[in-house]
Amino acid sequence: MPQVHPNFVAGEWIEGSDVTANINPSNTNDVVGYYARGSATDLNNAVAAAKAAFPAWSRTTPQIRCDLLKKASDEILARKDELGRLLSREEGKTLAEGIGEVARAGQIFAFHAGECLRLGGEAMASVRPGVGVEITREPVGIVGLITPWNFPIAIPAWKIAPALAWGNCVIIKPADLVPGSAWALSDILVRAGLPAGVLNLVMGRGSVVGQALLEHPDVNAVSFTGSVATGRKVAAACIASSPMKRIQLEMGGKNPLVVLDDANLDVAVEAAINGAFFSTGQRCTASSRFIVQDGIHDRFVAACVNRLKVLAVDDALKSHTHIGPVVDQGQLDQDLAYIRIAGDEGGKLAFGGEILTRETPGYYLAPALFTETTNDMRISREEVFGPVANVVRVKSYDEALEISNDTAFGLSSGICTTSLRFATHFRRNSEAGMVMVNLPTAGVDYHVPFGGRKGSSYGSREQGAYAKEFYSSVKTAYTFA
Ligand code: NAD
Repeated sequence: MPQVHPNFVAGEWIEGSDVTANINPSNTNDVVGYYARGSATDLNNAVAAAKAAFPAWSRTTPQIRCDLLKKASDEILARKDELGRLLSREEGKTLAEGIGEVARAGQIFAFHAGECLRLGGEAMASVRPGVGVEITREPVGIVGLITPWNFPIAIPAWKIAPALAWGNCVIIKPADLVPGSAWALSDILVRAGLPAGVLNLVMGRGSVVGQALLEHPDVNAVSFTGSVATGRKVAAACIASSPMKRIQLEMGGKNPLVVLDDANLDVAVEAAINGAFFSTGQRCTASSRFIVQDGIHDRFVAACVNRLKVLAVDDALKSHTHIGPVVDQGQLDQDLAYIRIAGDEGGKLAFGGEILTRETPGYYLAPALFTETTNDMRISREEVFGPVANVVRVKSYDEALEISNDTAFGLSSGICTTSLRFATHFRRNSEAGMVMVNLPTAGVDYHVPFGGRKGSSYGSREQGAYAKEFYSSVKTAYTFA
């Protein structure tokens, strides 16, 4: 029997009721490891342990929490090459991207270690004589964290770190497809010295572990990142539960990159290729709609195709690889379905879109670029979540802005231009939570707010100091003395 990575519940590593094999998408013969799948009972035990741990943990000094998070950060950063390799092996992003993501997780823990020492409040004068008003923040309680497969360590990190910094107890349920990085992160946190019950890792299926978490009355808040369809279920279950749970949802995107006639062509092509195709296009912030003005359109398309021709799609761990494989067969099927749909709708395939064969069996797809598309086609409206982008040709800046906002989503948007006037106008009028000028729509800092509008997000922002809006509860105290 191979070694199985267990769940961590109530201060102990425990076997699950089932086991899943974590498969390397660059080489499906390679099993990254075996991981426990928890049951509803495991989840209930985790919540009971978190509840028991909460009174003491929520009253620990900021210094204790700061030291713990800093210790975790130091180990993550010291092991970034090894953990980056694990991440790339289980998810398929390139080794450089995997190491970069692990480093980011380490920086997130360092940032929130610092935040522990900045937990402040406000004192206000009352409108009534002799009364003082104090506004403080307290932990929310037991928070459930549900994460997707595309950032296997950064997303668990950017939810766990602020949750712990603010004195909450945590149940983390990572994506069933990529449990390895979240397991390694939990192991680091446990060894950093978290008391039993403060952090519980329950790996397994969304429909089993995730659902039990949403239904448990003692879970006070749920932070979810994933698809819109699952997000809706999460919200409905959290509102139906009694008491209702606080929710934070980060979901899909259909992020536009506007390229104006006056753009620097090299900057625009770099932003487009990086934003759409790096990390195999599997980023919620990926640019998937290029909205390109007439005068630069043909040069932009030709330069993108030339750039795509020299990008190596191969095993994520090989040093020459620019784009790793798609994460699994289901996602590959979805990408291919959208490539067919785009063609059927009248889009012209300017590059790629075919399955590639490499040394090892894996889910290799040539990045696909469509031209001659319009914004009402499905390829412009629905999230593909793969290395697929389409170009919509426009006549003017005004038309570009209108089309970029004509979407159900609102996560990230970008514009490439050398005009201060257009850049400023776009920043102010783009209906997205994050706006990029002469930069890819994907790739953000870890110390500033992250999140979107419209169908992309629900609830308060993640990351940076803004994370406190979700992970703390405001108390207003009046004193007459
Ligand atoms: P998904 O919705 O299928 O799964 C996300 C998580 O929810 C997984 O852990 C899954 O097990 C769990 N889950 C599934 N059913 C559940 C249920 N009934 N109850 C509770 N939990 C359940 O998403 P995915 O395929 O893992 O990730 C891809 C999606 O994530 C894309 O739409 C992408 O845009 C989005 N995403 C968004 C952001 C963001 O910050 N906006 C970041 C990364 C990914």
